[in-house]
Amino acid sequence: MSEPEIQLFAKQQKIYPRRVWGVYRRVKWLAMILLLSIYYLSPWIRWERGGNAPSQAILIDLEHTRGYFFGIEIWPQEVYYITGLLVLSAVALFFVTALFGRVWCGYACPQTVWTDLFVWVERIVQGDRNARKKLDESPWSLEKIYKKTVTHLIWLFIGVCTGGAWVFYFNDAPTLMEQIIHAEVPLPVMTWIIGLAFSTYLMAGFAREQVCTYMCPYSRFQSAMFDKDTLIIAYDEKRGEPRGKHKAGDSWENKGHCIDCDSCVVVCPMGIDIREGLQMECIACGLCVDACNNVMDKIGLPRGLIRYNTEHAREHGTKPDLRLLRPRNLWYAGIISLVSGFMLYSLLTRSPLELTVLHDRNPVFVQLADGHIRNGYTISILNKNHAEHVYRLQVKHLDNAHIRIEASHETSPDSLPVFADSVGHFRVFVTASKQAEERKEIEFEITDLKDQLKEEKTSIFVSEN
Ligand code: SF4
Ligand code: SF4
Repeated sequence: MSEPEIQLFAKQQKIYPRRVWGVYRRVKWLAMILLLSIYYLSPWIRWERGGNAPSQAILIDLEHTRGYFFGIEIWPQEVYYITGLLVLSAVALFFVTALFGRVWCGYACPQTVWTDLFVWVERIVQGDRNARKKLDESPWSLEKIYKKTVTHLIWLFIGVCTGGAWVFYFNDAPTLMEQIIHAEVPLPVMTWIIGLAFSTYLMAGFAREQVCTYMCPYSRFQSAMFDKDTLIIAYDEKRGEPRGKHKAGDSWENKGHCIDCDSCVVVCPMGIDIREGLQMECIACGLCVDACNNVMDKIGLPRGLIRYNTEHAREHGTKPDLRLLRPRNLWYAGIISLVSGFMLYSLLTRSPLELTVLHDRNPVFVQLADGHIRNGYTISILNKNHAEHVYRLQVKHLDNAHIRIEASHETSPDSLPVFADSVGHFRVFVTASKQAEERKEIEFEITDLKDQLKEEKTSIFVSEN
């Protein structure tokens, strides 16, 4: 007997979500408008920083390796802020998931938001579920070509706007817009716009729910954050079963409240039937809740046959109680407070001046003809001010030390200029008499002559191998 063939690939079945009205649909519209507005408009917010610093509130300046977020400026040396931000985002997502389930997936994930927008465009141009299905099944005609072309052109337009908005975060938005208008966009920028336009078009226009089901790792492990008090979308089978068609005026005796109308199924953007229980595909968007509530209103039964619920409440037949003070929530809240507290503290105490000192490795020291010892260092002064500042360099804990700056022109250690928002690199030679210790610990100190701010760094002065 031949072995049954194992299918490793299931062909995508196109889903035609039907239009629905209700509380959660309104929340989704609001979330979409808010999130898309933030995404498209943020690069246009101005923030004066003075000097030659960029006046864009949110900007990742790859050319000068800086990140700007309103009053915060991140240098490459401060990449730990980005690490902190990523840790915060991940733990905040776990925290929200433990409390409210997949609320991120249902309302705020870019894949959900853009797919919702694309489905809305499809509906406006081609009509609701039945009209779209009929159009797809019908042979090609002028009407079909027209409707499909208009849909895809609008999708592409949204894709280009999405890619265009993304590159504004990496360039001065008004300048780049002028370049776009005059068709003078640099090739790398154009490549990014085209790439992102097509990925948006493909992901939101075609891949849709496949991204959530097969590509997104979060849908696979989010159940690890769930417990019995996490909000999930659930069908009340005790009340709904046995399901069956129901005519107006018929008795409800021995019948469940589900009239098997399929409204909850046809509105689902993931194409699932929530009555079969909690499924990995369910993004907790709440649209089936709206659909079923509308049906219940029509047949005069109480709402909530499908609703946001918790396992705990379902088991005990009670109302869902989020129980905020659960151990896992406290852990998440603790990590969030710790990381954000640390980031806030380091931002508030952030110095506009930094110093790094690198001792020469080869040779580690040189003995001069007069018996003195000379050590070489590379000193970098980070001037995070938006104006040029001048610094004085001193060496501490080394008697009668002489400092010489190697430069093409006469440069005194008492007057080291560093341009605005720049790092000044200096080759420095320190000469002193031979020390008792082989490697003496010394201190480099720079003083900002304008605001008398000081910064110190420990190094060594080597006298012997
Ligand atoms: S919408 Fe409500 S009544 Fe209709 S099939 Fe779904 S659960 Fe049953
Ligand atoms: S089952 Fe309901 S909540 Fe889950 S994805 Fe479908 S419509 Fe959204």
